[in-house]
Amino acid sequence: MAIRRYSHQRELIYQTVLASQDHPTAEMVYSALKPDHPSLSLGTVYRNLHLLAREGRLRRMPFPVERFDGDLSPHRHFCCQRCGRVYDVPGDGGPALDGALRAAGHRVERREVIYYGVCRRCLPEA
Ligand SMILES: [Zn+2]
Ligand SMILES: [Zn+2]
Repeated sequence: MAIRRYSHQRELIYQTVLASQDHPTAEMVYSALKPDHPSLSLGTVYRNLHLLAREGRLRRMPFPVERFDGDLSPHRHFCCQRCGRVYDVPGDGGPALDGALRAAGHRVERREVIYYGVCRRCLPEA
C-alpha cells in the first residue's frame, strides 16, 4: 500500500516537471503540487526528483540552483543570472570540441552546454 502511494506521488511529480516549461526546482514542483496535495513534503518531492533523474526519466541540472528537465532530447540551456529562468536552446552544442577530446583519448557520450547571461525579460527595453 505504501509503495503504491509512493509511486503515485512519483508519477505526479514527474508529470509536473513534464508539463512545465520552466525547468523547475524542487521548490517550484512542491509549490505547484502543494495546494491539491497538502500531505506532500518538500523532502518527498526532492527524493523523487532525484530518483527520476537516476532512472533517466528526468535530466538533473546542477545549476546554481538545482533544476530538473523532462525534455531528454539534446538541447542546450541559457540561464539568466538576474531572474534565474532557464531557457531551452535548440541543438546540443555541436561537435566542435569532440575532436580535441577524442585526440586526448576520451570518448564523448553526451554534451551539456549552459550559457549564462541576462534574459530578454530582464534587459531594459531598448
Ligand atoms: Zn531574466
Ligand atoms: Zn531544457
